[in-house]
Amino acid sequence: MQNAERMQGRIRAQRQPQHKPFWRRLLAIASPSQRSWHGGIELRGYKELSNATPVVPVAIGKIQLAIPLGRGRRSVQPCVQPGQHVRKGEVIGIGDDNTAWVHASTSGIVERIDLAFAADSAEPVMAVILNADGLDEWIERPVPGLPQTPETLVERALQMGIVGLGGAGFPTALKLAGAQQPDLLLINGAECEPFLTCDDRLMREHAEALIEAADFVAALLGITLTRFGVETNKPEAMATLRAAARQARTRVEICPLPERYPAGGQPLMIKSLSGRNLAPGARPADIGVLALNVATLYALGRAIFQGEPLIKRVLTLTGNCERPGNVLVPVGYPVSALRAIAGAAAEGQWTQVGGPMMGQPLPDPTAVISKTSSCLIFGAERYLPATQPAGSCIRCTRCVDVCPMSLRPLDLYAAAERLDKASLQELRLDACIECGSCSSICPSNIPLRDRFRQSKTEIRA
Ligand code: SF4
Ligand code: SF4
Repeated sequence: MQNAERMQGRIRAQRQPQHKPFWRRLLAIASPSQRSWHGGIELRGYKELSNATPVVPVAIGKIQLAIPLGRGRRSVQPCVQPGQHVRKGEVIGIGDDNTAWVHASTSGIVERIDLAFAADSAEPVMAVILNADGLDEWIERPVPGLPQTPETLVERALQMGIVGLGGAGFPTALKLAGAQQPDLLLINGAECEPFLTCDDRLMREHAEALIEAADFVAALLGITLTRFGVETNKPEAMATLRAAARQARTRVEICPLPERYPAGGQPLMIKSLSGRNLAPGARPADIGVLALNVATLYALGRAIFQGEPLIKRVLTLTGNCERPGNVLVPVGYPVSALRAIAGAAAEGQWTQVGGPMMGQPLPDPTAVISKTSSCLIFGAERYLPATQPAGSCIRCTRCVDVCPMSLRPLDLYAAAERLDKASLQELRLDACIECGSCSSICPSNIPLRDRFRQSKTEIRA
């Protein structure tokens, strides 16, 4: 309970009544615009491989799960012991008030607490190794009361383990607690990476639940307008959301985003949907925006209305496999078992986790699905170009043409190679969203994005 009390105190402190800052009145909400930013690249989508069939729940059975306890400073402490029996939804990890709680994805016996590879993390993380008993038995879940205040909504999000499912894994409770009187709720339904279709299927199949959750959050936080951003290549998702939005009590609009990578990048999505500029290092809350990924909103809605913790997510299985599609998979489920479910060849092929632009190769064959794993591309060598040796810059400026943040990647790269921090600052390295558009277009195969990531780490250190 100490954690909950501390959290309450912190939330109260953060949410002291405030007057809207005067500059908020200057932040008009512009009409949504598909192309309010320049650059980006057109990529072959490969969406048709996996977007045609409904999401299928994975049967758990008597399998061993490794449920990650978070990553780095966003990790929680285990609160279970080896040998302990836990039921589905039981809390197995609690952290400080900056960290979302972790729950058992199914019922079974805790074998040990140990390091394990999460599919989308290069380094192993601490995990609860759980031998599922095959019963998939829930803890007792009395029907929860609805959160009545912003503070209780924040508390619900923290205790139900809700984190950003778009990839960042940032605790949603912190986002909600830091959202000081936002006037705009933006829901990111852009899935601009090739291959991913998990959010598309979620929007098509759960449009009413998404609108209900957005409506509730907006009403509770006093937000006047909600906009869902959905790319034009998802007409069914748009249509079902539009139909569901007619039932909303608050104003909800479904807005098209360009079918162009990286339309879902946070500053670009905000610019397209509101006309507001998110400065480097600023938070959406600073410009009156609460921005949530569509899968995060769905998980938050389950927590609000069903009292359900985040223990499973929709994941795309695609690439070179016999049964591509989307599955509802428990957190901690092994990739090796998903390989069999998808009918992919055994080991020896390149498995990409996430999309080809922002994702990474599977770090280890024993890796498991985490809350932020969105997609597995089996046999990725068939679709994605292998890394080529880098040549010299020929100053073609193609990287400049595609940079959606209007940066000069060739100059940034030269400054990074010289370790010239002043120039990196002048050239606005901090505005780079690491989308990789520049690297992918570069005829000399210069690993621009990787170098920028490295430079940011060096500067932070
Ligand atoms: S695209 Fe590559 S080769 Fe062309 S200017 Fe940029 S870094 Fe140089
Ligand atoms: S990785 Fe950075 S520099 Fe390169 S295109 Fe994207 S935002 Fe621009």
